Amino acid sequence: MEIFIDYVREILRQRGSVIDSFSYKNGKLFAEGVDVEAIANQVGTPVYIYSKATFLDHLKKIQTAYADIDTTICYSIKACGNIHILKDLAVAGSGFDIVSGGELYRAQQAGADMSKIVFAGVGKTDAEIIEALDAGIGCFNIESEAELENLIKLCKVHGKTTKSALRVNPDINYDTHKYITTGVKETKFGIDIERTLKIYDKYANNGVVEMSVIHVHLGSGGKTVDPYVNYVKKVLPLVEDLRSKGYTIDKLDLGGGYGADYETATVPSAADYAERIVPLLKAANLKLILEPGKSIIANAGIMLTRTVFKKSGGEKNFVIVDAGMNDLIRPCLYEAFHFIWPTRVGENLVPEKRVNGLEMDNTEVVDVVGPICEATDYFAKNRAMPMVERGDLVAVFSVGAYGFTMASNYNARPMCAEVLVDGDQFRIIRKRQTYESLIEMEK
Ligand SMILES: *Cc1c(COP(=O)(O)O)cnc(C)c1O
Repeated sequence: MEIFIDYVREILRQRGSVIDSFSYKNGKLFAEGVDVEAIANQVGTPVYIYSKATFLDHLKKIQTAYADIDTTICYSIKACGNIHILKDLAVAGSGFDIVSGGELYRAQQAGADMSKIVFAGVGKTDAEIIEALDAGIGCFNIESEAELENLIKLCKVHGKTTKSALRVNPDINYDTHKYITTGVKETKFGIDIERTLKIYDKYANNGVVEMSVIHVHLGSGGKTVDPYVNYVKKVLPLVEDLRSKGYTIDKLDLGGGYGADYETATVPSAADYAERIVPLLKAANLKLILEPGKSIIANAGIMLTRTVFKKSGGEKNFVIVDAGMNDLIRPCLYEAFHFIWPTRVGENLVPEKRVNGLEMDNTEVVDVVGPICEATDYFAKNRAMPMVERGDLVAVFSVGAYGFTMASNYNARPMCAEVLVDGDQFRIIRKRQTYESLIEMEK
């Protein structure tokens, strides 16, 4: 309950709507100019709904914040890879961060500018590397010495040249969830910063792979700018060292992990990051690559789900909905918080109107759970929410990132539909899966 009140108060103070382009009008939830109930009625539930204005606005804010230096923004496809969203982002000037051959294919189909693609991942196969070399991508982000050696070998065999960014681990731990920390020393990602010079001495003059970029990626969830600034400050001396030995380093890839407002709208904005980071890079004459995922797309998506049953079991009240952990696994996987609210509420329960009224009339404390045969199939626990009845729609907010992309067919549940809202129009950008297609590959 506490978290809800803080959440609503903060976001309303800052933005005046629930989340970006999702807001209540006369007690009904709208995505931009579309009443989301109309979508549920036409497309069914569960359904992911994305707001185009929101993700384009987030991209624009990053572009504007870093306008003072040469910056390539490479949206991280793994956060949400629907091809229609990728197309819109590509048209708006975004490049892409990919982690597999499949994501390369998505980027190609979306018409992406291949020179603005960076390829990350600790286990790129030869086949994937060759596909990416053939496509002419901008840069390979290198996670180990063995991978670098292999890339050089494949370039020589296939007569290709490319660029690499060595991913270094400056060994900073910081306050985030233990499951998603990737910047600390015991990790399968990247190379210890102390080893970098040796690797340059050994490989830099290989003739096919230009090693002019240094990459760092903090993982996810930072609530302050400081870890990023510390990262840059730890990497700048390395850049100086490498330059003093005659190696050309002209770019820093600062990865992703910038916060999205899941809880309290207190995460730093793109402008907050840029204000501290841009002067450091300018002084060092470095260009920049950014790989934002969730900061662009998380709050641009909601999931609509319908209440199947209410169940009161002694101490607890359950709202059983028609979406499950196969549709949205973040609460189960990361204990992620997602704001959940019915799509239709009385005037006194419109989140915008509750800033000063903390009374909980017509609310109850519930667990919102899915239908799947797992105890971890839940979306919220002990959450104060307006009372809903069988058949009522509820919206799970901020699910644009790592939502649909992590969906599965567990329990033989067809994957849900995705819808894109643009102004007062909406269209299906991924059809609901059919039963037949569940067994298609088994024939
Ligand atoms: C996942 C990932 C990103 C995107 O992370 P977000 O938290 O969604 O911003 C960027 N770069 C790399 C290397 C990643 O693994």
